[in-house]
Amino acid sequence: MVVAPSGAGKSTLVNALLEGDPGIILSVSYTTRPPRPKELDGREYHFVSAESFLDRRAQGEFLESAEVHGNYYGTSRLWIQEQMRNGRDVLLEIDWQGAQQVHRQFGNAVGIFILPPSLPALEERLKKRGQDEENVIVRRLLAAGSEIAHAPEAEYVIINEDFDTALAELRQVVAATRLRFASQYAKHTKLFVELGIHLPQAD
Ligand code: GDP
Ligand code: ADP
Ligand code: 5GP
Repeated sequence: MVVAPSGAGKSTLVNALLEGDPGIILSVSYTTRPPRPKELDGREYHFVSAESFLDRRAQGEFLESAEVHGNYYGTSRLWIQEQMRNGRDVLLEIDWQGAQQVHRQFGNAVGIFILPPSLPALEERLKKRGQDEENVIVRRLLAAGSEIAHAPEAEYVIINEDFDTALAELRQVVAATRLRFASQYAKHTKLFVELGIHLPQAD
């Protein structure tokens, strides 16, 4: 799970990561936010009405959902289950509220927090992106502090100052996550069993 205040460079980093690593698949969230000029329905998000979103939420379709900057966002439970069954590494770009909900359901989930190098840099990046109205930018900047306050809940922190350095660090986190006991056990179960290695019993 990648978490960050708006403008920290989360989507840019994640897109660069995905381009170089076909083993990772990005969850496309549902949202009630209107599409930005360059966004495509089904690519960045599934853009839905508030009515449709609340209906889906009531049906239990979301693994997690939250209200962020005045819009609803949610992750499809069914889609995630399907990808996990197929052994894919699934990446979620979600806010801290969603990350907490996922952590409660999957103790193994890994949170990566992306920080900007400074608050002025964050403001500059939001403006430079040029995809949001002025009032939307102000709202997101005001919310940055409360998002950043949840950085201690993440397993890893990356400071996105120099982009290439941050991308290399993100790749290192992915590499380390793939070597965790649970991931290795799931991938090489036959070998582990042959070697007499067993999962610790859950209490
Ligand atoms: P379970 O007993 O099989 O449900 O075990 P877990 O719930 O701990 O997770 C099983 C596997 O799901 C783990 O090995 C992780 O690779 C993967 N996983 C954990 N958290 C997440 C998550 O938030 N999203 C997705 N897509 N996969 C996760
Ligand atoms: P988020 O998804 O976190 O809201 P974006 O990925 O859209 O943020 O990035 C916000 C803006 O900052 C974009 O215009 C992006 O090109 C720029 N940006 C991202 N990383 C860096 C960096 N390391 N240095 C300078 N600008 C960056
Ligand atoms: P944006 O509108 O800039 O794409 O995203 C705004 C915020 O909503 C970001 O903090 C992003 O992480 C969060 N977000 C995007 N998709 C989801 C989702 O499916 N669930 C949750 N909880 N937050 C999301």
